[in-house]
Amino acid sequence: MDKEYIKKTAVIFAAAAVCAAALPLAACQNTPERTTYDITCTYSEERGTLSAVCDVTYVNTADTDVIKFNIYGNAYREGALYRPVSDELEGSAYYNGASYGGVQITAVEGGEWTICGEDENILEVTLPGTLAGGDSCEISISYTLELAEVNHRTGIAEHAVNLGNFYPVACARDGDGNFLECPYYSDGDPFLSDCADYKVTLTVPEGYTAAASGQLVESSGNTYTYSLENARDFCMVISDEFKRISAEAGGTQVYYYYYSDDNAQAKLDAACQSLEYFESAFGEYMWPTLSVVQTGFAAGGMEYPALTMINGGLDESGAIAAIVHENAHQWWYAMVGSDQINCAWQDEGLAEYSALMFFENSPEYGVTRTGLVNAAINAYRAYFTVYNQIFGDADTSMTRHLKDFVSDYEYVNIAYNKGLILFDTLRQSIGDDRFLAGLKSYFAENKGKIAKSDDLIACFEGTGVDVDGLFASFIEGKVII
Ligand SMILES: [Zn+2]
Repeated sequence: MDKEYIKKTAVIFAAAAVCAAALPLAACQNTPERTTYDITCTYSEERGTLSAVCDVTYVNTADTDVIKFNIYGNAYREGALYRPVSDELEGSAYYNGASYGGVQITAVEGGEWTICGEDENILEVTLPGTLAGGDSCEISISYTLELAEVNHRTGIAEHAVNLGNFYPVACARDGDGNFLECPYYSDGDPFLSDCADYKVTLTVPEGYTAAASGQLVESSGNTYTYSLENARDFCMVISDEFKRISAEAGGTQVYYYYYSDDNAQAKLDAACQSLEYFESAFGEYMWPTLSVVQTGFAAGGMEYPALTMINGGLDESGAIAAIVHENAHQWWYAMVGSDQINCAWQDEGLAEYSALMFFENSPEYGVTRTGLVNAAINAYRAYFTVYNQIFGDADTSMTRHLKDFVSDYEYVNIAYNKGLILFDTLRQSIGDDRFLAGLKSYFAENKGKIAKSDDLIACFEGTGVDVDGLFASFIEGKVII
């Protein structure tokens, strides 16, 4: 996500059905390389719903009798334990007052199913027998996604419908094979998933335009089919107000979808330039398209593989900054995954620092390295002073669970600002050449995976420097800034 919203907010301290249908296990004859999702869905404007069938070919990594899916859409239901939007953003998110959504599962083929998890956030499918690691099985899930009126990842936003996290996402698994469940915290991006292949067929009402993570491979009337390979998520945004401009950058077709923008070309240019810069700095972008989408969104923006949502309410420089930050997430989140729930600084700090590097190398934008570093230091010191006064001893550790941040304000200062300061301190300490070499090897070695922070540190150490202590002093909260 982008931190833009923090500029608009004062310091607020936030508290941060069971069915069964036993069917035989339909084992796959040919196990694909990755889990695949084949989703067919239709948006109803009248009902404000997406009705869908999600056929999953699940590629199993360790023996199991059950398969668990995150059903993120349930976070929007009335009475949810964790609200999807923080106190700070609630006013701008719920533009029509309180509104609710949710996921109604109507049928599951492939096993008995139940809704469970800490906050009714998990669809658990019990298989007819044990599925061995390396084998695969087919599960078909029919459901209706009810959309709240909200400027957030999943909802009917002002001017567009945001279809982030719109399908059951197989939980990533830890080294012991345990499924990692992701309750929906309002701070940060509470998502963790492995890369998969997608085929998504979407039918929209007459007059709607769709932006999607994937490449359009087929269309008929108002029905569009997209494909996306080796991606950890898939997202769509639809609107009856969208205009679209496009350009090619480094072999990638870049689209900018917008409903109101007097300077749309500048946004497309920033998207193309930042994509080309990140490719030269870190490594090649791996999908054929990248869609930058202006939409209703309470924070600055939100990243998905091959698609980014940008808050339509941002001013010119805010929109450019959000586009560059979200594009950086294509490298640090989409291609190189990390644990966003326990280690948010890893992708947010890197996305912030990558944006700094882009602006440093693009003087026409008038944004300097010194300016950005000083802004982060000043914001961080202000946070530290306030939190020290309130809590006596501010917790400035960086690696912590999303639910352990007491506010968006704290989260942004730790994950984004302190993250940026960490990477700039590291660069000053080891020099530009080793810093860039470390980032290049981090990308090359972890593309398509979920990297641990130790993997990141090891890539810098691989350039012949000892940076363990530097990282530890930041991560553990000992460094004085
Ligand atoms: Zn971000």
